[in-house]
Amino acid sequence: MKRLRILVTGGAGFLGSHLCEKLVHAQHDVICLDNYFTGNKRNVEHLMDYRNFELLRHDITFPVFLEVDQIYNLACPASPVHYQYNAVKTIKTSVMGAINMLGLAKRVKARILQASTSEIYGDPIVHPQPEGYWGHVNPIGIRSCYDEGKRVAETLFFDYHRMNNVDIRVMRIFNTYGPRMHPNDGRVVSNFIVQALKGNDITVYGDGNQTRSFCYVDDLIEGMIRLMNKENFYGPVNIGNPSEFTIKELADLVIKLTNSSSEVIYQPLPSDDPRQRQPDISLAKQALNWEPAVELKEGLEKTIAYFRDNNDC
Ligand code: NAD
Ligand code: UDP
Repeated sequence: MKRLRILVTGGAGFLGSHLCEKLVHAQHDVICLDNYFTGNKRNVEHLMDYRNFELLRHDITFPVFLEVDQIYNLACPASPVHYQYNAVKTIKTSVMGAINMLGLAKRVKARILQASTSEIYGDPIVHPQPEGYWGHVNPIGIRSCYDEGKRVAETLFFDYHRMNNVDIRVMRIFNTYGPRMHPNDGRVVSNFIVQALKGNDITVYGDGNQTRSFCYVDDLIEGMIRLMNKENFYGPVNIGNPSEFTIKELADLVIKLTNSSSEVIYQPLPSDDPRQRQPDISLAKQALNWEPAVELKEGLEKTIAYFRDNNDC
C-alpha cells in the first residue's frame, strides 16, 4: 500500500486514538491534532516513539497549514455532558472546524472524511434509520449545538464537493464504545461500567426503555478506513451495529458481566433524549463490504477489562 501523510483531528480522543494506532501500524505518516478538550495525551502515548507519528496541539476553529494526503476530521466533543459544557464552542468546532479543514483539503487536494453522527436524525420517526431519512431534530434544544453543528458540517462537506470538487467522505457514526472512553464523560457505556465496578448505583435515565445500538470501536475504525479508501463514493453512510438494546437491558448486562452488587436507580430523562436508534447498514454492506463482527457481550468484556486495569475501579 502507498505510504500516505494523514491528518487526524481529534486524534487524542477515544475514536481518534484507535484510528491513529491503526494508521501508524499500517506505516502511514500520521499527524494527530488535538486541543485536549476531551482527549488526552495518554491515549496516544504508546505511539510517541514511532517515527511516523507526530502530535500537534491545535484548535480546529483556527486555520492550520499542513501538507497531507488525507484528513480524518474527528475533532468535536461527542458526549452530551461535554458538548453541552460550552455549547457555542461545540458549534464553532463543528462549523468553523469543518470550514478550516475543508479549506485545507481544497488547498492541498487531500481527501477528507467527516465524522458525522446518528444525531443528525434527531429523535427519529423512521426506524431503523436509512441515510435517505432527513431526520427529526429540535433546532433550539440542549442537544442542538451538537446535532445542528454536525448537520451544517455535512452541508459544508457537500457544498465544497459540488463547488470545489473536494474529495469528501461523510460517515454517520452510531453509538460506539470501547477502551479509552473517558471514564467521566457521561456516556452510557462508560458510566454503567464505572458505576458497576465501583459498586455504585447504576443511573438509568427515564424508564430505561429508550434504545441504542452499540458498535465496538474496532469494527467502527475498520468501517472508517474502508470508507476513506473507497474510490468515487462520498456517502453519507451509516456505520454502526444494528443490534438494538434498551438502556435497561444494557444496565442488566453490565451488572452481570462485572459480577456487581450495584442496583439500578431511575433518574429524570434529559430533554430531547432520542427514544430509539438503530442504523440501517444496507449501504455500508453493499458499498464497503462492511458489517460489524463484535457482539455487545464480547465488546463489553474487553471494555470492562480496560476500565478495571486503567481507572482505579
Ligand atoms: P472524544 O471526545 O473522545 O474525541 C474528540 C476529540 O476531539 C478529543 O480528543 C478532543 O480533545 C478533540 N477536540 C474537541 N474540540 C476540538 C477542537 N476545537 N480542536 C481540536 N480538537 C478538538 O469523542 P469520540 O467518541 O472519539 O468522537 C470522535 C468523533 O466521532 C466526534 O466528532 C464525534 O462527534 C464523532 N462521533 C462519535 C460517536 C461515538 O459514539 N463515539 C458517535 C457519533 C459521532
Ligand atoms: N443514559 C442513562 N444513564 C447514564 C447515561 C446515559 O440512562 O448514566 C442514557 C441516555 O439518557 C440515553 C442513552 O443512555 O438515552 C445513551 O446516552 P449517551 O449519552 O451514551 O449517548 P446518546 O444519547 O448521545 O446516544
